[in-house]
Amino acid sequence: MAFQLIDLPYPDSALEPAVSANTLSFHHGKHHKAYIDKMNAAIDGTAHDDAALEDVVSAARGSNQGLFNNAAQSWNHAFYWHSMAASETAPSDELKAKIEAAFGSIDELKSQLKARGAGHFASGWVWLAEKNGELSVEETHDGDTLADSDFNPLLTIDVWEHAYYLDHQNARPAYLDAVVDHKINWAFASENLARGSAWTYPK
Ligand code: MN
Repeated sequence: MAFQLIDLPYPDSALEPAVSANTLSFHHGKHHKAYIDKMNAAIDGTAHDDAALEDVVSAARGSNQGLFNNAAQSWNHAFYWHSMAASETAPSDELKAKIEAAFGSIDELKSQLKARGAGHFASGWVWLAEKNGELSVEETHDGDTLADSDFNPLLTIDVWEHAYYLDHQNARPAYLDAVVDHKINWAFASENLARGSAWTYPK
């Protein structure tokens, strides 16, 4: 059974002005859809056809770069849509305590997400992740993902140019400021922490 492009969890205009409806429409309807379509074409008729997306990512890692890129990007984008919210959310008491233990404060975590995202060379992803009960900010390059890693990813931000160029041109820090300060879905990150294992792509 082929993978489906998941619906956005909010209308195209919900993240404005941080992410415009125009950007979200192209990013979800063109970029994310293309990753899903290419992955489906690659796995059609293979043993991967009935697998979970996380297992496709893991199996392709290091052995089939083309499939890995499309499978990992399919996962990363779905996780990214959920990592943002239309309205303000707050971390759970558990997440807040872990953020304060690791970073000192939520404001310091926000500063680190912005700095690591702005400093990441070329395309990639910046993450808040948990491992062995401790939180850290992580980066992955190009289409790489934490979906099949030792980390439990709590949230991610896309720092590929296509995520912000229509709205902020080359000013990646302006995109990061707008998203990190106003659109992070802290409730989703809290759910991921409470579950204790990585979010899975719906199938
Ligand atoms: Mn993207």
